[in-house]
Order: sequence, then structure tokens, then C-alpha cells
Amino acid sequence: MAREKTLGASPPPDDKNRDAALRPKLLKEVIGQRNVAERLEIAVRASKILNEPLGHILFDGPPGLGKTTFATVLPNELGTSIQMTSGPALSKPADLLPFLTNLEESSILFIDEIHRMPRVVEEFIYPAMEDFRIDIVLGDGVNARTISMHLKRFTLIGATTRGGMLSGPMRDRFKMREHLDYYSVEELATIVKVNAAKLNTTIADAACVEIARRSRGTPRVANARLHWCRIYAVGTADGVISLDLAERALLQQEVDPTGLDKNDRRYLEVLVDVFGGGPTGADAMAATMNIAVDTLTDEIEPYLLREQFLIRTPRGRTATAKAFQLLGKLHPEESKSDKPSLFDPD
Ligand code: ADP
Repeated sequence: MAREKTLGASPPPDDKNRDAALRPKLLKEVIGQRNVAERLEIAVRASKILNEPLGHILFDGPPGLGKTTFATVLPNELGTSIQMTSGPALSKPADLLPFLTNLEESSILFIDEIHRMPRVVEEFIYPAMEDFRIDIVLGDGVNARTISMHLKRFTLIGATTRGGMLSGPMRDRFKMREHLDYYSVEELATIVKVNAAKLNTTIADAACVEIARRSRGTPRVANARLHWCRIYAVGTADGVISLDLAERALLQQEVDPTGLDKNDRRYLEVLVDVFGGGPTGADAMAATMNIAVDTLTDEIEPYLLREQFLIRTPRGRTATAKAFQLLGKLHPEESKSDKPSLFDPD
């Protein structure tokens, strides 16, 4: 199995620990995203035959869909090591040096949230990606000179929730670019079943499907919902997750039958009650909800957009008739048409 080297990594929060424990270890254990997994299987096989490192890979897609999972599975497949860092942790080129000098032949450097890496660091990493060398400037002014340092051949894996924010030159340097999409209910139900077994928890098939239906198409959410159902089953019953128990546990957690949680409903309430259904901007919504704009755009909105509770127009976010219906409110168009017209026959 791959050795993970963590340089300068802060202790991970609970969610990350749980994710790490449930994360698949090999490509064949990865559920769903079959096209991506098959392309990676081919690339791994070729890399072993050619005795060359895997080409640099970029994963993009909303949070919790498996970008880190794919990145951590690959070193296991290749029998190599991985170092993990993230864009915000690399504020200057020197922050990259320990990672680059620690590289082993064909090892992996994983940079999460790579779109948040400053431009100077991005430019510093280009020669490392292209020619496995870095240029270091020593001294300054007239005495400045540049020395080139050769690196071990490695694979950079970048993950981003905002593919569009990555610069063109950075994007072009990745040999493979893989977009991860939301999972089907069947795929999530399988993930729930497999993970319940890893947690030694008995769960009914119908409960797996119910948890999957309410997990916003996202494995990380499914893991969190399963975790809560398991706690609820132990805390209130005999530890077995039946369909009835899963429904009660999710209700207790304020996850409704459509899969929306407290934050989703609050978003829609603010948009409808405070902004009259929109259109309004992300900054105004985030300020009113008292949450970070990134949480709003990366975690809450993608699911509401996908489920058509929300549309985004050049003028801003607008609630759909479906959102008004969910909140039991009349859509402005409907209230207009309800008003008696002078031309109504009676
Ligand atoms: P991302 O990096 O895209 O935010 P992660 O890779 O951290 O998402 O995925 C979150 C968790 O969801 C993982 O720890 C893993 O348990 C689970 N997961 C993600 N993708 C899959 C998958 N395809 N099959 C099984 N479990 C998955």
C-alpha cells in the first residue's frame, strides 16, 4: 500500500478522519465513475509497462465526489508514495520546495484546491511539471543568478472544485483531465452498503436506498448520513438500521424526503422571503445567511441548481416555481394570474 508523507499538514477534522477510514484503497473498489476509473486503469497499466511516471492528472467536480479518493488510490495501484498539500497552503514558491525535494521516482504530489494556488507558485511549478526541474534565483539585483535543480520524475495530481478558475497554461499542462459527476441513487446505495459493512453495522437494503436518495448525489454526504443513522440506531434502538429507523434518524437531523437539509431550506427561505425570489447576487445571499461565499457556491447551490430549485441568470440567482412550492408559497407569476382581471367573464 502507498506510503503517505504529510509535510506541514494540519491535524484533519473528524469528517476527514471518517472519509479516510471509508475511502476505497484500489481502483476496483471505487464505486461509480466507471469511465474515469477505466481510463485510469489503462494509464496505470501503461505506466508500469513503459516504466514511466503517470502523466499529470487534474480532477474537477463538486466537493465530496471522490477527487481525493482517486488521488489516494493511484499510488496504491502503482506501489509508490504520495505527498499531500493544498493550494492555500502554498503561498510562495519556497512552500513547494520541501515537497519537490522529497519526491521519489514516479511518486505522486497531490495538490487539493489547486485553483487557489497563487500565480507565482503556479509559474514556479511549470518547469517541474514539464521537464522535472525547478529554477531557483539566488541573490538579488546585479548579483542574482538562477540555478536549475533536477527533480525525480513525478506525477502531479491536482483537484479543483472550480475548473473554470484554473489558468489556461496550468490546465494545459495536465495530460489527463477528469470531471467527476454526481452519483446515481443505485451507486450511492452500494457505497452505503459497503461502508456499513466496513463499520460492522447491519443495515436493510431499503435503508441503503433511502439514505442514498437523500444524499445529494454525493458519497461524502452519504457517509455522513450513514454515520448519523448508525449513531441513532445504537443510541435509540438495537443498532440495526432498518428503513423505518433511517427515516426517523434523517428526520431528526432535519434532512427532508427530497434530501434537502437545514442549510438548503434556509437558502431558499432567504432567497424567497428576503429577496422576493431573486434575482440576487451570491455576496448578498452569503452575507444575509452569515456564511462564506465559497460554502454557498460550492456546497449549497450546485445541488439546488441540479434539482431545479434555483436558476442562475446573468442578473443573479432566482428561485424557481418548484422552490416556492416547497416552501408552500405562491410564485409571483401565479399570484399575478390569481388577481381578478377586468376582462374576466365573471
Ligand atoms: P473530494 O476530494 O472530491 O472532495 P473525497 O475523495 O474526499 O471527495 O470523497 C469523500 C468520501 O466519499 C471518501 O472518503 C470516500 O469514503 C467516499 N467516496 C468518494 N468517492 C467514492 C467512490 N467512487 N466509491 C466509494 N466511496 C467514495
